[in-house]
Amino acid sequence: MKPSRLAFALSTVVLAAATAVAQGKGSLRIAAIDVEGGQATLFIAPTGQSLLVDTGWPGRNGRDADRIVAAAKEMGLTRIDTVLLTHYHTDHAGGVPQLVDRIPVGTFLDHGDRYPQDPNSPQDYDDYLKVIASGKSKRVTVKAGDKLPIAGFDAIAISSAGKVMDAALPGAGKPNALCANAPAPAEDTQENGQSLGILLRFAGLKIVDGGDLTSDRERMLVCPANKIGPVDLMIVSHHGIDWSSSPIFIKSLAPRVAIMDNGSRKGASTSVIDTLRSSPRIEALYQLHLAPPAGSPNPGGTKQEGPDHNVPDEFLANPAGTDGKRIDITITPNGAIDVRNERTGDTKHFPRG
Ligand SMILES: [Zn+2]
Repeated sequence: MKPSRLAFALSTVVLAAATAVAQGKGSLRIAAIDVEGGQATLFIAPTGQSLLVDTGWPGRNGRDADRIVAAAKEMGLTRIDTVLLTHYHTDHAGGVPQLVDRIPVGTFLDHGDRYPQDPNSPQDYDDYLKVIASGKSKRVTVKAGDKLPIAGFDAIAISSAGKVMDAALPGAGKPNALCANAPAPAEDTQENGQSLGILLRFAGLKIVDGGDLTSDRERMLVCPANKIGPVDLMIVSHHGIDWSSSPIFIKSLAPRVAIMDNGSRKGASTSVIDTLRSSPRIEALYQLHLAPPAGSPNPGGTKQEGPDHNVPDEFLANPAGTDGKRIDITITPNGAIDVRNERTGDTKHFPRG
């Protein structure tokens, strides 16, 4: 082969390799999409199969559905195979009608009937039922402990409809010494405590996403035995509001990387940030938004902190007055975690722990 041809062939190989890296070949790709204090987290398996956890808020001219579709298309999708609704609050399930207007959805997974005592947002559940009645998408209800009935992912429901899984995950289930002094919170009587929480396994790593699961159910998962054990990546429950993400849950799971889907006026409680920062194996915490200073108007009614509690700028997707930027995570087949801040373009590499 002539040198020029060899150079061409080599450059083709290099290009192909670069393209494979860019597309995350063999990797699990995750996008924490900014829906401003709601949830929309997109998982794409190496096979191309997709799982969207929650759909953001309704209204706003389809802002959240547009952001989800933009992320999906950028990641190479033309449809979403599965949408998992953790629960029926408007910041999670409200975006369903606008989403299905914009992109086909194969199947919805959920925890079953809406919790009847919850006074919040019954309309969103009714609108979801109308979407299912249209026949365009299937509906499957998942029980705690079930393996998720979806292709491409190794995932289990750790919680659903107020219950948690009976059995511990393989390798977990040891008595938890942290339980002795941990408070036993009152039972949540809204949709949050019904959350369909999931744990995914990939490349020997564990990824947890509890939706808005509350501290009472979190305690059932880790006391008296820790049924989950250490995890590598945590989508921080309930946007970092302090009636979820209890110290015992975070310290028992000891995530290495945590992503908080807070809004500019919601979540990111001081105590949750402090707990994550002091958690035994933590390497990085990312926030989707800068939390406002203490004393700012706060419709969520949670305790928020001064700017000194926010993560450094490089771990922040959306500083004050900005929105819409994602945190993208790639888990490689050899178990490394790469986290990219869409705003800064910076990617941080966390080798297998
Ligand atoms: Zn929520």
